[in-house]
Amino acid sequence: MRILQVSAELFPLLKTGGLADIAGALPLALMAEGQDARVLLPGFPAIVAGVRDLAPVADFNAPWGERFGLRAGHIAIDGAPAIRAYVIDAPALYDRPGNPYEDTARQPYADNHRRFALLGWAAAQLAKGLDPAWQPEVVHAHDWHAALAPAYIAFARQAGPNRDLRVGTVFTVHNLAYQGIFAPWHFTDLGLPGPAFHMNGLEYHGQVSFMKAGLYFADRLTTVSPTYALEIQTPEQGCGLDGLLRQRSGALTGILNAVDDKVWNPASDAALVQGYHTPEGRHMAGKARCKAVLQHQLGLAERPDAPLFILVSRLTEQKGLHLVLGGIDALLAQGGQLALLGSGEAWLEEAFRQRAAAAPESVSVTIGYNETLAHQLFGGGDVTLVPSLFEPCGLTQMYGLKYGSLPLVRRVGGLADTVVDSTLEDMASGEATGFVFDRFDAADYERALRRAFALYQRAPDWRRVRGHAMRRPADWATAAAQYIDVYRQSME
Ligand code: ADP
Repeated sequence: MRILQVSAELFPLLKTGGLADIAGALPLALMAEGQDARVLLPGFPAIVAGVRDLAPVADFNAPWGERFGLRAGHIAIDGAPAIRAYVIDAPALYDRPGNPYEDTARQPYADNHRRFALLGWAAAQLAKGLDPAWQPEVVHAHDWHAALAPAYIAFARQAGPNRDLRVGTVFTVHNLAYQGIFAPWHFTDLGLPGPAFHMNGLEYHGQVSFMKAGLYFADRLTTVSPTYALEIQTPEQGCGLDGLLRQRSGALTGILNAVDDKVWNPASDAALVQGYHTPEGRHMAGKARCKAVLQHQLGLAERPDAPLFILVSRLTEQKGLHLVLGGIDALLAQGGQLALLGSGEAWLEEAFRQRAAAAPESVSVTIGYNETLAHQLFGGGDVTLVPSLFEPCGLTQMYGLKYGSLPLVRRVGGLADTVVDSTLEDMASGEATGFVFDRFDAADYERALRRAFALYQRAPDWRRVRGHAMRRPADWATAAAQYIDVYRQSME
């Protein structure tokens, strides 16, 4: 199958969150299954710099009349097969400082509707044959940034020269909370026919919703865990779109994200001072060494006996960080240490900074984005904290599992699908892999903390659970096979 993946980020070229990890790993996993997968990306500076041998393919008009170019090249990641990549050449829209969505003052760019409409538009042009040498059979759009692609294709199929267009569309929700909502007067820029701006379309309470376009017009929908697929159909977690999601329930599949073994593998991770692998308790000396070096590097007391809790996250309300802040005293009182890496909302950055300044030997806070340190935290940590309010899939708990830094998570979304609580029963059956709490409150979170400390005191049990965690399969081949099924359905 010829499959075009459309996303705004792709690891290792450009990453602000889990979307990039998936966009980088899925094409490789599909290629490993014999599929002809390519990617389409906006020409952000980091993308243009990272795609090799870029050469022009064709020019095309944006819906608002400006002319842009499409270029093609390949992404070569150490040891992996090259991924063929199309890049939209539009410096006026993409060549800017800040992250892909916001300026340096963290304000969304005022023309984001054009910047991301163009991504969906270019995908639709490729579906219609913009590159005579390669035409996708399936267009797979990720998150609201790419969500207009299914709408453009749906309308192209309805009338005009592309009435016979045979291309399946799949739209994946990585996080329903970010919807790409714009003022209604921007609709005229999008190049969609009037009827699209309708309740049965992308109109959302009088505004334009890119997310809704994807949900409404794609042939098939997926999201990144089975539990989240159910949750988003409820008013509590549906972010105002649960009605539409219930309506489209038959087209929606939850496919759990996997872990890219080439990037996240404690045995071969170049960021670690010493690798480690067999989880049975042997060959784990590397982990102890990683912890000692990490403690030293972060200025924490070099105590092998102190359980080291780590957190790698965007600092937003979603991630339950007020529970972590509120629980720091309890964590320290029980002899633990906390190491956090993250960036985001200013008040959270400041609150964590203050806690680190007050107890530098026990609390380390690094504000910023640092891929190497993230790996080192999973390598040296004992417990990975992910107490999210909601979590579509969550990757850090999966990295925690793989690196034997046991996840402590709330039972929600993908966290519920990937972590098994260390109850006596589940420990006996060999299923337990971490600590799970239910209610989004301090009491439940701190109870889970206490259980983590209690298990840590029982070293043989700790090693056993850590072994289960590290052995938990999270391979991309399984996820790729499920996506291929969905692609087939989208073409029916
Ligand atoms: P989300 O996509 O909601 O941010 P995920 O858990 O799905 O959450 O993915 C987060 C990804 O971003 C993980 O790969 C995590 O390691 C990475 N990450 C988050 N914050 C940072 C940071 N400050 N530095 C390095 N990596 C980070």
